[in-house]
Amino acid sequence: MTRPASALAALRHLPKVDRVLDHPELAALPWRRRLVHRFVVDAIASERARVLEAKPAKAVEVADADALAARVRERLEALAQPHPRPVINATGVLLHTNIGRAPLGAAAIAAMAAAAGTCDLEIDLRTGARGSRFAYLRPLLAALFEAEDVHVVNNGAAALLLACSALGVSPTKQHPTGVALSRGQHVEIGDSFRVADMAAAGGVPLVAIGSTNRTHLRDYAQAEVSALLWVHPSNFVQSGFVREVELPALAKLARERGLPLIADLGSGSLGHGLPPGEPTVASHIQAGATLVTFSGDKLLGGPQAGILAGDAAAIARCRRHPLARALRPGKTALAAIHATALAHARAPEAGKPDVPDLPLHTQAMVPAEALRARGLELCAALGWPESALQPSRATIGGGSLPGEDLDSFALVPPVAKAHRAAATLRRGNPPIIARVHDERLWLDLRTLHGVDDERLLGPLRALTP
Ligand SMILES: *Cc1c(COP(=O)(O)O)cnc(C)c1O
Repeated sequence: MTRPASALAALRHLPKVDRVLDHPELAALPWRRRLVHRFVVDAIASERARVLEAKPAKAVEVADADALAARVRERLEALAQPHPRPVINATGVLLHTNIGRAPLGAAAIAAMAAAAGTCDLEIDLRTGARGSRFAYLRPLLAALFEAEDVHVVNNGAAALLLACSALGVSPTKQHPTGVALSRGQHVEIGDSFRVADMAAAGGVPLVAIGSTNRTHLRDYAQAEVSALLWVHPSNFVQSGFVREVELPALAKLARERGLPLIADLGSGSLGHGLPPGEPTVASHIQAGATLVTFSGDKLLGGPQAGILAGDAAAIARCRRHPLARALRPGKTALAAIHATALAHARAPEAGKPDVPDLPLHTQAMVPAEALRARGLELCAALGWPESALQPSRATIGGGSLPGEDLDSFALVPPVAKAHRAAATLRRGNPPIIARVHDERLWLDLRTLHGVDDERLLGPLRALTP
């Protein structure tokens, strides 16, 4: 290390690319030299930027070839780690978008692996003719959702985009192109994405009607559009001087005007298994929606997918739209959806609760008393006092069931620095994602249901040596 007086002088000591590239530490790596070269150039450029940004008055140290080669090796090793890697969900949020939403069932995982090689994705094995990738899924999903027909795309946003792009133009040119959406339903979902923008991304304009707090039937009646859109306010509630038109009234108007009604439900609840109160896909079709769009990885408990369910002619228009090809799911996703749909289709065993055999549904329905019993056992095994077990509230999350919580219990370890402990768990192997609340660390047993004790005890023991 050198200690020159100024940054510019320091930069003269920055090693050349070839010196770092030929460093024994990098030469031995099993990476193509062209790639290593690129990361070496990057490392030198960021070192140069760091030195130039240093305060002028300060003496600047510049990294030598040893240090830069070590940095590049660390970077490449980090990039070579499998990703996304498994983490343990102790947040108490069952559908957490940042950590992969629904954990798939064992059958879905096996189905994805089986479909990963060559498979009969689009060949009819009986005749040898070209088949449809949706052939098996369509009747099964249509029956489950009590819909005339269904179509499957990559995610809920894609389902909404496809529905609005296909149905927001008039097949007979009687109506101007456009989709009407109440200002009270211009929902923003995660990562700053707005439902209205996603719906319009295919080029069909979205026509905002009504006001933030009140939208009337006459607003829909007067809108010059080809389709009506209703969006489930999945992540917020409005109260006070508010009014939205209920779906059945909207459906009646849509029928009278000869317009399709698209309902973006967000989550594909089938009703059984999860707490009551969340409207189901079938109930929205019965209420008169032409098409219902939703995510396959929210209340269905499957892989990332988007499903459109409803009127057969409307589904046919979506299926023929060019975007349908751009948004179609791949073989592994289809295999996982199929296995997840089967779990919903299976009758519950005699005397057992009506819950599909899927991790999401099992976690949602396990009685709080069972979580308490397990929590006490874990406290005993860890040598923690019983006060380290606290009642808590878990949530479904994923924009499902706003305001609805589930009774739960959480481990609240006797540690002083909650944020530091959370970081330790997060950086462990396997990483555990916990919650900090009231300056205390909370590990919710509802989302830990199904996780082996052995995977928890080691990291938790290390918290309170
Ligand atoms: C989650 C959600 C979407 C988007 O679904 P993704 O599967 O995340 O693409 C769209 N609309 C509503 C109302 C949602 O809750």
